[in-house]
Amino acid sequence: MQDKPLNRRQFLLSAAAFSIFSPTKLWVPAPPAKVQTVQGVIRSVDMGITLPHEHILVDFIGAESVSPDRYDAEEVFRVALPHLQQLYKLGCRTLVECTPAYLGRDAALLQRLSKASGLQILTNTGYYSAVGGKYLPSHAFSETATQLSARWVREWAAGIDGTGIKPGFIKISVDKAPLKEYSQKIVKAAALTHLQTGLTIAAHTGNGAAALEEIEILRSNGVKESAFIWVHAQNEKDAKVHQEMARRGAWVEFDGLNAENIEDYLQYVQSMRKAGLLQNTLLSHDAGWYHAGETGGGSYRPYDTLFKRLLPSLRRIGFTGAQIDQLLVVNPRNAFTLRIRKT
Ligand SMILES: [Zn+2]
Repeated sequence: MQDKPLNRRQFLLSAAAFSIFSPTKLWVPAPPAKVQTVQGVIRSVDMGITLPHEHILVDFIGAESVSPDRYDAEEVFRVALPHLQQLYKLGCRTLVECTPAYLGRDAALLQRLSKASGLQILTNTGYYSAVGGKYLPSHAFSETATQLSARWVREWAAGIDGTGIKPGFIKISVDKAPLKEYSQKIVKAAALTHLQTGLTIAAHTGNGAAALEEIEILRSNGVKESAFIWVHAQNEKDAKVHQEMARRGAWVEFDGLNAENIEDYLQYVQSMRKAGLLQNTLLSHDAGWYHAGETGGGSYRPYDTLFKRLLPSLRRIGFTGAQIDQLLVVNPRNAFTLRIRKT
């Protein structure tokens, strides 16, 4: 007796059963998107309003002399906490702390402040090669990109400085174009690290030409532009370069907002909106921080201009709730979600 051919419904059911129960084709639900904070992994949807580029502690002394002995962590905690609490009250839920190693990164202190303020905080791995390499340790000049990347991947796997606290992104920096050889190497090391960890690369960048050079290096190492945040895009005055970078998929971050330059920031955001590129735009203050080596940490700039000044202005010029949500919630979430972005 010949089997009757399956009708469409039977066929679909048996195909579904095969894909669910076949040992070779187990159906596995996609894992929820995640980000890595100093208190562990959270779901990306729980990031809430996020400031993608701020600082809590910075030490500009240089890689040769930098040390935790140069500041009193208790005092930094006392100075920074009220600013973080104020930010939480303004509605912010996640702060991305962009101080790299050899510039005062202190993962344990950030974790304490995160617990005390309720803010989710991300810290980073990677090296800062701008300012002529002043903030690079000597091994950054002698080692290869692969060796440097192995150090950063180790931080991702085992945590930073014995704390077990993991980086949530890669922070690097380069001066203006043309990139120095050691800067090219740092960008390549970031690409290699991204391919192993899925950490997003945020690069302090001197100008637009340097940003274009960076994404070429990423591309030639197999990393997509969507893994790249162009930090300090406001350093480039030509809006065409902002648009080109965003069209290629990179994140264009205008991150020096303060009370004196609100008009400029309205311009940046409007111009990105007009070009249909709001979904690649990030905003932050690059504010804070306790300055190691200065009495009482010097002057600490609050993280409030965006909430108190920029948002009301954006609403006044017709930005919808959805567009503001895009800028402050959706874009940072998409930018910092852990995932490997291969070409
Ligand atoms: Zn910064």
